[in-house]
Amino acid sequence: MVPDRARSLFFELYSGLPRQGPGSAESTRRALSCVPVLTPESRILDLGCGTGAQTLVLARYTPAKIYAIDTYEPYVIDLNIQATELGVADRVAAFHGDMRKLTFETESFDLVWSEGAIYNVGVNTALKDWRRFLRSDGHLVFTEVCWKGRDAPDECRLFWQNEYPEIRHTEVLLDEIEKCDYIVVDHFPLMASDWWDEYYGPLQSNVDVFRRRYVGDRDAERLCDLCQCEIDIWLKYSEYYDYEFFVTCVG
Ligand code: SAH
Repeated sequence: MVPDRARSLFFELYSGLPRQGPGSAESTRRALSCVPVLTPESRILDLGCGTGAQTLVLARYTPAKIYAIDTYEPYVIDLNIQATELGVADRVAAFHGDMRKLTFETESFDLVWSEGAIYNVGVNTALKDWRRFLRSDGHLVFTEVCWKGRDAPDECRLFWQNEYPEIRHTEVLLDEIEKCDYIVVDHFPLMASDWWDEYYGPLQSNVDVFRRRYVGDRDAERLCDLCQCEIDIWLKYSEYYDYEFFVTCVG
């Protein structure tokens, strides 16, 4: 498939969703409650913000100044419109940018946040690269898919091996985080409703509409199949993996 067509179909399939990955306001607030209280002078960097589900929770429950970054410009525009409508545009600004090529000043943020997006960089690389933006008592908070408990059945393992071979057990990732010289303040798995009500449920509705819209279009059908497979794997095997919130601070 031509890359431009793949990209436009992908973003069409994902349009109108409340968020672009698993999560919820409740889980964002729980993670935020593990971070020291922020002031109007505090600065937050939200990386891979999407349409800003978590950005607006951070804006609502802190008085901090928030910079949100995403590579997909329509999401950035959408978030800036929402910030204006909610009356927080004076301290919440979204920018079109790449979290692999950030140019902020060193030690200029109290909190770096990334929900459902750090995998685009890789956790280990992100821990090392983003550290320079954190002040000496700064926190890095992110979510990442992790194996839990005993080994998953082959069908599930093969799916993840293809989609995201870096997936690790929570305990392995905790070790990695500490090896990168961060202290783990807390970690907890997202709730089942964070996957289904907030993300896969709405995505399933989009997939159903998309299939009807693009009958006979092989590119669109393949995209739907891939998405459906991800949803079905979760429905069948969610007991084997979690989306885990990690709240860490600079050690
Ligand atoms: N945090 C949001 C979006 C998660 S989806 C939520 O939880 O709803 C992952 C997001 O990362 C997408 O919006 C995608 O456009 C963005 N993204 C992917 N690679 C990126 C990069 N290199 N730099 C910045 N954003 C990126």
